[in-house]
Parts: sequence; C-alpha cells; structure tokens
Amino acid sequence: MELNGLSLWEKILEKLKEKVPEQTFKTWFSPTKGLNFSEDTLFVEVPNPFFIDWLEEHYINILSDIAVSLLKRKMKISFKANTSEAMRPEPVLKDIVAFPSPRTNLRERYTFENYVVGKCNQFAQAASLAVAKAPAKTYNPLFIYGGVGLGKTHLMHAIGNYSQSLYRDSRAFYIPAEKFMNEMIYAIKNQETLEFKNKYRSLDMLLIDDIHFLADKVSLQEEIFHTFNALYGAQKQVVVTSDKPPREIPALEERLISRFQWGLVVDIQPPDLETRIAILKKKSEMDGINVPEDVIFYIANNIRTNIRELEGSLVRLLALSSLTNTEINLTTAKEMLNSIIGSRKNQINLKNILKTVADFFDVSEESLVGKRRTASVVLPRQVGMYILRELTSLSLKEIGSKFGGRDHTTVLHAYDKIGTLIKEDREFSNNIDKIIRKLTS
Ligand code: ADP
Ligand code: MG
Repeated sequence: MELNGLSLWEKILEKLKEKVPEQTFKTWFSPTKGLNFSEDTLFVEVPNPFFIDWLEEHYINILSDIAVSLLKRKMKISFKANTSEAMRPEPVLKDIVAFPSPRTNLRERYTFENYVVGKCNQFAQAASLAVAKAPAKTYNPLFIYGGVGLGKTHLMHAIGNYSQSLYRDSRAFYIPAEKFMNEMIYAIKNQETLEFKNKYRSLDMLLIDDIHFLADKVSLQEEIFHTFNALYGAQKQVVVTSDKPPREIPALEERLISRFQWGLVVDIQPPDLETRIAILKKKSEMDGINVPEDVIFYIANNIRTNIRELEGSLVRLLALSSLTNTEINLTTAKEMLNSIIGSRKNQINLKNILKTVADFFDVSEESLVGKRRTASVVLPRQVGMYILRELTSLSLKEIGSKFGGRDHTTVLHAYDKIGTLIKEDREFSNNIDKIIRKLTS
C-alpha cells in the first residue's frame, strides 16, 4: 500500500471516527493534518501544544492500534503544534465549517450578531457598524487596536461580512499584514507586481489585520502606503487593526502614522466580568449546550483578559464532558481549568501582591498586614487575602499567617465576602480585575 503522511493519517482518522463520539472527533481531530511519514514515524500537525498533551494522554494507544492494523507493522505517531496564523487556537466550536471564500477571504461566523458588546468594546463595535453600513462615508480609515484575543479580527470580519450583505456588488477583502507581505514578495519574485497592485487597488474595502507586523519592515510600509493612498483617493474604505495605537508601533513611518490618524482610532479593552459572562453564555448557546450558571461564573471569574482563552476553556470543557460522558459541573470545570490557572499561580509572589493591593487602595503595606481594624484598611486587607487565595497555592492558614497571624476562618470569611461583592458590584469587580491584571500580565 503506497501511503504518504497525509493519506495515512486520513485513513487512520476514518477508522477512528467509528470509535469516538462525533463531537469529540470534530473537536480533536478535524483540525489536524497528516504531514510526512518517514521510516516508522508519522508526523501530524495539530493547532496548538495543548492538543499534543491531550492527544498523547487520551488517544495515542487507540491511534497506534489503528495504525498497526492498517500497516501491519509498528509505527510512531508524533504530533507537532502549528505555529502559523492559520491554525492558531481557533475555538473548535461546531460552527466553524466554512472556509473563507477566496473572493473576500472573510470568515462567515465572525458577525456582529455573534459579537457581544460591553463597555470594553462598545465604541469599537459602534464605529465598525457605522463603517460597515456606509463604507468610506464615515470613518476612513478605521483603526482598531487592543491586546491579543480581544476581538479585533472578529470585528474586522464582521465589518466585511455585513457590508458585503448590504452591498453585494462591492468587494471587501480581508488580509493579515503578514500574508500581504508574503504575497508582495511572491509577486516581486515572479514579476507579477502589476497584478498584485491591481488586485489590491481595485477593492472597495480593504481589511488589513495585525498591522503592527509592519514595524521595521520598510518595503512593506511603502507598499501599504501606496495601496492606502490609491484606495483612499478613490473613496474606498480601509480598516486596520493593531495591538498598539499607530504612534506606538515601533519604527512606523511618520507618513503612515498620520494616514492612520486621518480617520478614527478606537481601542478595545479587556472585558469586564459582566461581558465575560455574556460571552460565555452566547458561545454555549450558539453551541446548543447547557452550561450551569456557576460554571460560567467560575470560568469568567478566573480567565480575565483573553477572550480566546475564555472560549478555549469552554471548548475544553465540552470536549472533556463528551469524552468522559459526564455532565459539566463546577467540579469538572475546576479540575480542568486548574491546569491553566494553576500554572500561573506559582509565579506570583506575596510581596508583589501586597504592594499592588496597598498601592491600589492607597494604604501602606504595613497597615495591610497589621493589627488595626479601621474601616479604611479592612476592605483592602480582605481584598489582599482574596487575591492571595486566587493567585497562589497558599492554604487559608498560611494566608492568615501572612496577614499578621490571623485565623484561617478570618481568611475564609474575607474570601467569601469579596467573592460576593464581585458578583454584586460591577465597579468593585472591575477594580479587582485591574489589580489581578496588573499582577498577572
Ligand atoms: P484578536 O484579533 O483581538 O486577537 P479575535 O478577534 O481573534 O481577537 O478574538 C478571539 C476569539 O474571541 C474569537 O473566537 C472571537 O470570536 C472571540 N471574541 C472576541 N471578542 C468577542 C466578543 N465581544 N463577543 C464574542 N466573541 C468574541
Ligand atoms: Mg487577530
């Protein structure tokens, strides 16, 4: 039997499909790809390192058995995480089916309907909607910036998708800055620069993602500058995203900075607790599964900055429950998330926590761990205990001893009280987020 890595892996998956639940297969195997098969090892590409751990832990035996039964000899399967943009930990929820159409490069599932609006992103969302409805008539260019996994790419596709639905004859096109550069290099090598220029300059809307990639890349900046001018001059819409505002992108040419600032520059902030909960609810609803309220709250309360991670943990939870055929509940959620949250816990030190909390509330570190019980220091002290419990693996007793030899029940009381306040008081919860972000970023 002549088999290369790709087809061998496909054969293996065909057999596997009969043995595992459909959701499991979709979650863990649809995003994989056979690479090469040499000697006795089959290399398989997976989206991220987490897959490697998971597959090795749970599936390596069954996969090897299938492989042996196909090849009639022993072989090894070796997983490799893909590091390129295309396979980044995209959530593996059931609605990723369609590949982007080559005409627009847009991903259909990134829509405004699926985008949860909160305080953190309302301005960016409103500007994006305005641009989608009336391209080149409102904010041009629209420059959206914000940290990793906060929804920039999603918004950008939503603009494209919505405007394509309104203006069917027009052509929007999405491209990550890095791919734009690769295309440009390819065009230069193959003497197709004219085609390249025409392709981009004939668009009605150009969506360039992750433009911070331009930093230090002179020829790319040059080409984007000319493309921008051509489109802008012809009253076509340009949308760009970046992880930083224009002025903070290292070595970005002044003329590009000024172009980017002609239109509107909007940012996306990390989501507050309420928005995180809404996002988790939306995602589980879209996937048609019922995730208990306390589990949603637990995830939202523990994964604070990155929406991609937020989604990822939901996906893992689903996969886990379908694999083990168990219900999703708080215990399974805690166990599963422990691996993510737990690994962060040890890196944070006591001194830093005390200092950050003290600074935030403008009290001294000594008073935080001291004996006095004045109102102004009681709450900060309880917050300190809460954060210590959340971010470290210290026991209640140990935490008590760090706070001037207090009893473990005092710590527990503080922890419960702050937990309740977080649930009930939005502003308070945002403040706790701020402190924790400071400590964990
Ligand atoms: P970025 O481009 O800023 O790194 P993405 O747009 O790729 O982030 O978002 C990461 C993931 O989080 C995507 O799957 C996206 O659908 C989801 N996401 C981000 N923001 C929201 C939101 N406000 N509502 C729903 N999903 C969101
Ligand atoms: Mg992105």
